[in-house]
Amino acid sequence: MTGKNATEMLQPDGAGIARAAEILQRGGLVAVPTETVYGLAARADNADAVARIYNAKGRPSFNPLIVHVAELAAAARLARLDDRAEKLAAHFWPGPLTLVLPLREDAGLAGAVTAGLPTLALRVPDHPTMQSLLRVLDGPVAAPSANASETVSPTSVDHVLKTLDGRIDAVIDAGATQRGLESTIVALRPDGSWNLLRAGPVGTEAIAAVLGSPPAGASSGVEAPGQLERHYAPGKPVRLDARSAREGEFLLGFASVGGDWQLSGSGDLAEAAARLYAGLHAAAEANAPRIAVAPIPDEGLGVAINDRLRRAAA
Ligand code: AMP
Ligand code: MG
Repeated sequence: MTGKNATEMLQPDGAGIARAAEILQRGGLVAVPTETVYGLAARADNADAVARIYNAKGRPSFNPLIVHVAELAAAARLARLDDRAEKLAAHFWPGPLTLVLPLREDAGLAGAVTAGLPTLALRVPDHPTMQSLLRVLDGPVAAPSANASETVSPTSVDHVLKTLDGRIDAVIDAGATQRGLESTIVALRPDGSWNLLRAGPVGTEAIAAVLGSPPAGASSGVEAPGQLERHYAPGKPVRLDARSAREGEFLLGFASVGGDWQLSGSGDLAEAAARLYAGLHAAAEANAPRIAVAPIPDEGLGVAINDRLRRAAA
């Protein structure tokens, strides 16, 4: 589905990063690699640019965006970081942890970034290309996953182009992303409690250990619409906990369960996380009308993998 404007392909080198920065500074959209999945970047302080993100993705306007900055000091100019936020940042930034914090009134962000909420989701990504880009830009970047809303997230440039070719100005090709799952999202509440809004590469136990308290009960789904059931949909029925393929199924294997496509033959959860979306993309493109997925242990990274699989199956 190529639109009338071609999407420029950029390399993750000095020239590519400079070109990406130029496009972003004039309000354009660039798909960028992060350690989690490819993000669709726009200047978060440019209302027209942010509107283009929602447009290109077909994303509902009530679903707020994560803002990416190069370092803690830049985060502190946009949101109020208390002791807990600083501790988490010290442990996990740069890295795949997003913090939902009180928005500063003088942050200067486009209102659509937070969908009008008084809170802001912030992250310092750990990818050399994204880090360089953020430093060149010297400004906040909104970046949801670089795919059409409700489709499987992109972990390669091929995945990005599948739904956004011709709809965005450029993409930086830095190969397959390393983690493969979207960031863990934690909301720090003014009353001292915290909630896990999205499971991800940073485990709940690790966060609880730093904060010295377990999460408060699950928060309402209204606040984090990315948690809506029909996210990550491959467009075919998905059956979980499958030990073998039934007729018409494309099986994603894990450990001793072989399949049409292996998430990890050795049963390595980090490898399975990194390969999960590529597997779902492959399954979506296969001739088989249905998808089956081998059981994934519900521990460590398996919690986040199973969270995404349940949504893919919903
Ligand atoms: P993604 O499309 O993967 O970037 O999803 C971003 C996620 O962050 C979605 O689940 C959003 O609902 C969530 N999010 C962003 N901003 C906020 C916020 N201020 N409060 C709660 N959740 C947020
Ligand atoms: Mg997404």
